[in-house]
Amino acid sequence: MNFNELGLAEPILRAVREQGYETPTPIQRQAIPAVLNGGDLMAGAQTGTGKTAGFVLPMLQRLSSQPVLRDARGRIAIRCLILTPTRELAAQVEESVRTYGRHLRLKSMVMFGGVGMQPQIDKLGRGVDILVATPGRLLDHHGQRTLDLSHVQVFVLDEADRMLDMGFIHDIKKVLAILPQKKQSLLFSATFSDEIKALADRLLNQPALIEVARRNAPAELVAQKVHPVGRERKKDLLAHLILQGDWHQVLVFTRTKHGANKLTEFLNKCDITAMAIHGNKSQSARTKALAEFKSGELRVLVATDIAARGIDIDQLPHVVNFEIPNVPEDYVHRIGRTGRAGSTGEAISLVCVDEELFLRDIQRLIHKEIAREVVKGFEPDPNERAEPIVLGRMTIGVGGNRRGGNGGRPSRPSQGRAQPARASHPAPGTHATRDARTPPGQRSAQPPQRGARPGGDSHGGPGGARPHRGGRGR
Ligand code: AMP
Repeated sequence: MNFNELGLAEPILRAVREQGYETPTPIQRQAIPAVLNGGDLMAGAQTGTGKTAGFVLPMLQRLSSQPVLRDARGRIAIRCLILTPTRELAAQVEESVRTYGRHLRLKSMVMFGGVGMQPQIDKLGRGVDILVATPGRLLDHHGQRTLDLSHVQVFVLDEADRMLDMGFIHDIKKVLAILPQKKQSLLFSATFSDEIKALADRLLNQPALIEVARRNAPAELVAQKVHPVGRERKKDLLAHLILQGDWHQVLVFTRTKHGANKLTEFLNKCDITAMAIHGNKSQSARTKALAEFKSGELRVLVATDIAARGIDIDQLPHVVNFEIPNVPEDYVHRIGRTGRAGSTGEAISLVCVDEELFLRDIQRLIHKEIAREVVKGFEPDPNERAEPIVLGRMTIGVGGNRRGGNGGRPSRPSQGRAQPARASHPAPGTHATRDARTPPGQRSAQPPQRGARPGGDSHGGPGGARPHRGGRGR
């Protein structure tokens, strides 16, 4: 099948051709006709499947085939609202809207927090057809009556699972209450938890259902590998892999912002150009880092999960989990950055003894044992004992308590490393089992829950496992 068969208008097809896309991806083949039909849609698709074009192309077609709407003040009215969890994703989706809509006369705008309100107010004042926004700032504008959503005809909730993970459910409900009842709604999510289904029930009316990748299945084209390594040797191993392999464009994930900064400093000292992006960085610093990384000027981008969400780089060859995520679904999201849209990629995880439980949870989620390969010269010490991992003010993992262990309050970092546990790397070819790692008579450490990411980015209040208002990283 090619794009001409999907019912898209010539100016849109021309923009697609100019992007060099030859055939629609599976999600595009299914979503484009469904959205053109005018009905609601619930789509299971991860970043990397081409989902953005899957909703942007038919949405552009629907808006461009109808007359421009004007609000009470005679300004062009917002007819499409796309809600995304992060600023990066919002910026990228709006860039896609502009790219695919370059031969149309529709006006788009991106809106997120962390930057001044006034330029956004000015832009809204000049009229906007398509608004791409993060929820917090959108509600701020609504509260200040600088935004009119009463003409919205198409509503897209992108990466809905991530929105819920980030505690946006109340904000989403508020946005839904503001939007007109009669509209076309599209919900995209990589996973379908009960919470997502409840949201879909509320939002969607007899939706078409599309699921392109197996639930929680990482992209098939990604080669995954684990390098077991000592806790203190990870940095050196990373530098070694980058230099020996002559890797360029390496996206490296750390669990915390502090960890991202420290690693960046280390790599720079090794003459490997690196920058960090995370919630504490200004928008301009993030944009600069991303632009230099995309252009190839910057060899390594070190990111936390939330900051990296939705980073859109074609054919990213190397993703490295410097620290594997404590939320197993994040692993799938992380490695989805590589092996995209037909290109192959490699996802490497550097795993120290503290992280074996996390690795076990990830393997369980993806229904697959990831190949382990010890790098010569970086063999882990078999006597190294697992230690709890401290995330911000919370201690998780072996010997620690993800909720803090002291009556639900987070434990202090100083308490964190005080309790060595009896665990070690499993022998090659074996699984780390909970039993093997649980001292007799002690309850085994449970895997941390989804959403437990206090040090991950700036969206949560300290110790709050499910952040709500107040720390939304606007
Ligand atoms: P997405 O899943 O929307 O984040 O898209 C992933 C990547 O695939 C983006 O970099 C797009 O530019 C690219 N892409 C989207 N559609 C196609 C297509 N039909 N052919 C080739 N690449 C595509």
